Amino acid sequence: MAKHQFQTEVNQILQLMIHSLYSNKEIFLRELVSNSSDALDKLNMLVLTNPEYKEVNFQPRIDITFNKEEKQLIIADSGIGMDEADLIEHLGTIAKSGTKAFLENLSGDEKKDSQLIGQFGVGFYASFMVADKVEVISKKAGTDKAYKWTSEGTGEYDLVEASRDSHGTTIIMHLKEDEGEFLEEHRLEAIIKKYSNHIPFPIFMDKEHYIAAQTDDDGKETQAASTEIKNEQINKASALWTISKSEIKDDEYKDFYKSIAHDSGEPLTWMHNKAEGTVNYTTLFYIPEKAPMDLYRVDYQPGMKLYINRVFITDDDKELMPTYLRFLRGVIDSADLPLNVSREILQSNPVMAKIKNSSVKKVLSELAKMMKKDADKYSKFYAEFGNCLKEGIYADIGNIDKLLELMKFNTLKSEETTSIEEFIKNVDEEKKEIYYLSGKMALSMLKNSPVLERFKSKDIDVLILNEEIDTIVFPMVTEYKEYKFVNAADAKFEESEEEKKAEEETSKEFETLLKEFKETLGESVKEVEVTSDLTDSPVCLRIDKEDPSYMMAQMMAQMGNAGDVPPVKPILQINPKHEILAKLKDSADQNLINDAAHVLLDQARIFEGMEIEDTAGFISRLNRIMSKAL
Ligand code: ADP
Repeated sequence: MAKHQFQTEVNQILQLMIHSLYSNKEIFLRELVSNSSDALDKLNMLVLTNPEYKEVNFQPRIDITFNKEEKQLIIADSGIGMDEADLIEHLGTIAKSGTKAFLENLSGDEKKDSQLIGQFGVGFYASFMVADKVEVISKKAGTDKAYKWTSEGTGEYDLVEASRDSHGTTIIMHLKEDEGEFLEEHRLEAIIKKYSNHIPFPIFMDKEHYIAAQTDDDGKETQAASTEIKNEQINKASALWTISKSEIKDDEYKDFYKSIAHDSGEPLTWMHNKAEGTVNYTTLFYIPEKAPMDLYRVDYQPGMKLYINRVFITDDDKELMPTYLRFLRGVIDSADLPLNVSREILQSNPVMAKIKNSSVKKVLSELAKMMKKDADKYSKFYAEFGNCLKEGIYADIGNIDKLLELMKFNTLKSEETTSIEEFIKNVDEEKKEIYYLSGKMALSMLKNSPVLERFKSKDIDVLILNEEIDTIVFPMVTEYKEYKFVNAADAKFEESEEEKKAEEETSKEFETLLKEFKETLGESVKEVEVTSDLTDSPVCLRIDKEDPSYMMAQMMAQMGNAGDVPPVKPILQINPKHEILAKLKDSADQNLINDAAHVLLDQARIFEGMEIEDTAGFISRLNRIMSKAL
């Protein structure tokens, strides 16, 4: 016998599963049936498309049997099966991306962890919740050797050659002492109907039927009452998405989600759509309640299954839907695609492109409906997946207006988030400019940015975008409908002749100070200028329109392009009305002017979310200024 060790992560998952998911043990059956269904899907596709599998006798079915004396529950399928290498890889290791990160996130608090594992999807190992020993006998289609994998779920497993009549997988569970309920016909049937009624393949089980006693005309018993065992299909096997909407109950939708999405959590909502016309197809999309663990990983697992006329084609194609909608789970089924479609063909196939485009439109319009009709639900959705939609803003230019309409914006004037459609109601109808300010920092900090002072004094609202992704996405947005997007720092407001004159005069008055500032600050700034935009703050920074923003420059540096990009030098703007500047202008203390210039630049940098370059210098200057003031 060949002994093998489980990968460490498998052991951890096993322990967790056995201890944390105990309250909902019955789901092990759903997980095993859904694995069998996937295995049947895979073989179905090969038989129809690959000449090498022509000889395979494909009779798709899943059989459930139980043996009360031996305390065994057995699930067998006629699917693709596994060879030796598959068994080692699939049942000895966990290939899911994010597993390590998931395990590191565990808190040790059973309740919290069990919620986490629900999100993770439990799979085959769930069998160890009810069994103290599991045997897997499998033969891969197209090969002639079968193997038996055996484990007690305690760190190791055995793998030996075995025999099996034809291709497929048999899972024998030796149930734990007190798991007798899973040997009861009615209990098993109820669980299957609950979770697996609508997988696309039939599930068979032996059922006991009562045959009443027979009597003759005189009432004399001619045959005693008896029972008869019949092997019967117990699920509908109807492929839920093919059924018409009006005939599907909410619970059926929810259970189907769990059987295809590898998520024990609930779906937040679903969209079931049948399209008829130039291209015929059906889609059933789910939005999970919680973001999957690998949502922000490059190697995320896509959640969309493609079927062609109920024949499974792939669940591993990231191109079926745009990347920014990768949180969707579900099924796309069309009879208008060729069965032998390869991945390359799929990507350039006009039918697929049509399905994809219309599906995206449908999803976005359903989300828009949810936003208007069910704000609470939409808030839940947005908290989990709003940032994905933001990715769409730069990835899906064609739908940019629709995506902007799905955003929930913080604004300068409002305490609550608002939509762009609400926001433009208060935009100046002549200028048609939407002002925004973005920066990765606390909302309150950004709202207090000196850049916004002139907006406050003019009572103009501004979109406040304080997430990292905002600083990348929104500089790319140029317009929404007929409205222009304008960075608040670049906004220009009409000045009257008098104002212009006054500004010129102040600039002259401050000429010497500006020169002194520029001399002492040197290359740290591009220029120093007077501004009339500030009310409360003494200074602020402005980036020359021709220069990339600070965030963009940092991003480029991170991507290794730093060499090509000269560092961005900001323009320091001073507020001539501010007491500090007014006093400095008349000061003869050159050292004080130099120190103040640096400290003012540093405070302006802080407001922009930048770092102070010379912290020691900042502190000693501040201390010198304080001593003078005392
Ligand atoms: P998941 O189904 O989420 O991938 P599992 O732990 O349930 O995780 O299964 C791991 C892998 O083992 C599956 O992806 C599949 O490749 C293989 N497998 C499990 N059950 C079967 C089966 N009945 N027939 C063929 N392969 C199976």
